[in-house]
Amino acid sequence: MSLGIEQLARANVRALTPYQSARRLGGSGDVWLNANEYPIAIPYELTQQTLNRYPECQPEQVIERYASYAGLQPDQVLTCRGADEGIELLMRAFCEPGEDAVLFCPPTYGMYSVSAETIGLEYRTVQARENWQINLEEIGAQLGGVKLIYLCSPNNPTGNLISAGDIRTLLEMARGKALVIADEAYIEFCPQASVASWLGEYPHLVVLRTLSKAFALAGLRCGFVLANAPVITLLMKVIAPYPLSTPVADVAAQALSEQGLAEMRRHVKTIKENRALLIDALRQSRWVETVYESETNYLLVRFRASSFVFKSLWNQGIILRDQNKQPGLADCLRISIGTRAECDHVINALAALPAIDNLRE
Ligand SMILES: *Cc1c(COP(=O)(O)O)cnc(C)c1O
Repeated sequence: MSLGIEQLARANVRALTPYQSARRLGGSGDVWLNANEYPIAIPYELTQQTLNRYPECQPEQVIERYASYAGLQPDQVLTCRGADEGIELLMRAFCEPGEDAVLFCPPTYGMYSVSAETIGLEYRTVQARENWQINLEEIGAQLGGVKLIYLCSPNNPTGNLISAGDIRTLLEMARGKALVIADEAYIEFCPQASVASWLGEYPHLVVLRTLSKAFALAGLRCGFVLANAPVITLLMKVIAPYPLSTPVADVAAQALSEQGLAEMRRHVKTIKENRALLIDALRQSRWVETVYESETNYLLVRFRASSFVFKSLWNQGIILRDQNKQPGLADCLRISIGTRAECDHVINALAALPAIDNLRE
């Protein structure tokens, strides 16, 4: 029997819809507010001229600096190709396809399901409550066979933190059964809310971090898994031999220097100031129904006539992220906080939109 290339592929891969990243969705414009990036590039120079050699698997300086920044020991830190790789390494190390499941709470980050589907793992979803806190009762009822529970806090795209008390309750429910993974991609915008300092109390807690958001290095592809040493040792078995290239490790170490951290904290402050201005202005727009509170560098906004707003701004080169398809997020768009000028562009574009007849009140 002769098979076409398509038939040769795994069934779950044939059925897979790839992650609709902001970059894949395209668009053309000069106001990019759809990927929660930092709006301005920070220049770096390479200090290592050793590209003939393979890099260290876990570059020592990067690990040490991140451990110190996170208040942990170096053996509690793994660095990888973005937090996205961390999401997948955990599945590969802990889940048996066909037997084990992962669980997460929509509306939330899209890669948990995409990674599970790629690997061929069952995933269960327990929708968040109306206030976007987790539904502990329902999670408890769904835990059979679950090895990994992904919590995103602050949550993308809703912007809220998951209650610390609920995370503790979940950790107690999962003890001896499953790992609880706190995805803290945006924690620099609310550092007091990190659960990284709980690692000593919970052997099954894992925290995901990244340089892509507050550190302004989405193009670098560098992330971190924080966990107790036994978890890190298992992940080291499945990680690629050279996950970070030499230039990546070089820039990451600079970003994590004292000067780099100070610069990151200044950027966070600016973004928060811009966020406050954008919230105020959006709340006065007739197109806006609700601006949700945010602990992050983006806002979730429920619009009147959201697809009209989305398309009109898109056509003007202002690219936002449509969240309509997520459960509970009808008419919601996500707006990354850009520069002051970019925030002003959004506000001015909204103010200039022509009234439409079927505007829902
Ligand atoms: C952006 C993001 C990531 C991915 O981070 P990378 O380090 O760029 O792979 C992971 N989780 C959440 C919630 C994110 O928003």
